[in-house]
Amino acid sequence: MTDAVVVGGGPAGLMAAIYLARFRRSVVLVDAGQSRIEKIPRSHNYPGFADGISGAKVRDMLRAQLRSYPVRIVQTFVERAERTLDGFRLATQQEPIEGKRLLLATGVTDIPPAMPQVRSALDAGVLRYCPVCDAYEVVGKAVGVYANGPAGVAEAIYLRHFSADITLFMAQGGPGLAADERRCLADAGIRWNDAPVDSIRKHGERIEVMHAGTRTLCDTLYCALGLTVHSQLAVALGASVDDTGYVRVDAHHATDVPGLYAAGDVSAGLNQIAVAMGGAAVAASAIHRELGPDWPARAGT
Ligand SMILES: Cc1cc2nc3c(=O)[nH]c(=O)nc-3n(C[C@H](O)[C@H](O)[C@H](O)COP(=O)(O)OP(=O)(O)OC[C@H]3O[C@@H](n4cnc5c(N)ncnc54)[C@H](O)[C@@H]3O)c2cc1C
Repeated sequence: MTDAVVVGGGPAGLMAAIYLARFRRSVVLVDAGQSRIEKIPRSHNYPGFADGISGAKVRDMLRAQLRSYPVRIVQTFVERAERTLDGFRLATQQEPIEGKRLLLATGVTDIPPAMPQVRSALDAGVLRYCPVCDAYEVVGKAVGVYANGPAGVAEAIYLRHFSADITLFMAQGGPGLAADERRCLADAGIRWNDAPVDSIRKHGERIEVMHAGTRTLCDTLYCALGLTVHSQLAVALGASVDDTGYVRVDAHHATDVPGLYAAGDVSAGLNQIAVAMGGAAVAASAIHRELGPDWPARAGT
């Protein structure tokens, strides 16, 4: 029986697996290969890289570090999870996998706007998802926020700290802006468009938003349509989640199900690489402590 199974091979899962391997625990890492980190063209807040670093490079470095330890990596999607007498059993698209402890690092997925060339717009920095990550890069620029509800108002006000040129665009079918939201936007000097957006497309080095026959060009458009939290496995195992779907964890990243941990974007907290890695280190250390010393089995080594 494996000591620990980690589901998810983004920064949280990779970091947890490295820690657990260095604690001399047997580890299986299961990953479906859709990490959010792959979408980062260049991060300027990842520690230690003054000129920034691409998400793919961070992922490659972590994978290379993990490969120097005897961790089994299984590339597949975990479909179901259940508790057993001494741990957890996972049903995957390949073989079943069992472990005494389970760490979920399954992340979230941003809901993209309906537009052509989403990936190329992200790579060019004309489409963004995360103001905490990169609002510094848009200081003083013409910034749009695209949303379908109150989250857009909050995001526009957040971004106003970084630029005086903010426009809020509403998606089709959204609830429209309430009177107090309009007041907040007006007080902050933020423009908005009541006419829902007809189309969005990359336009050279900028992004074009069409709404009721009007065309607005922005340097960057932040998409605030929300995200999908991959907490299904945690919920199926009985763990509690908050209103958005984030898995609730304690200071050790333990869920309220014994032996089940969660770290990274899937757990409640700030969706950032440094936070994902820190949480993973904390969770892995707690798992090691909980499994207890293994010196009888390791006599002489
Ligand atoms: C465009 C963009 C820019 C960003 N910029 C920055 C930045 O500059 N700085 C910063 O700190 N953060 C940034 N972020 C956020 C950062 O990418 C995330 O915080 C980080 O990737 C979270 O790591 P994670 O390991 O929790 O999840 P992820 O990296 O998303 O990894 C989760 C993994 O779990 C796998 N998985 C999910 N469910 C299953 C399952 N059932 N079975 C098997 N595998 C499964 C997924 O396929 C995926 O590989 C950015 C995000 C985006 C989208």
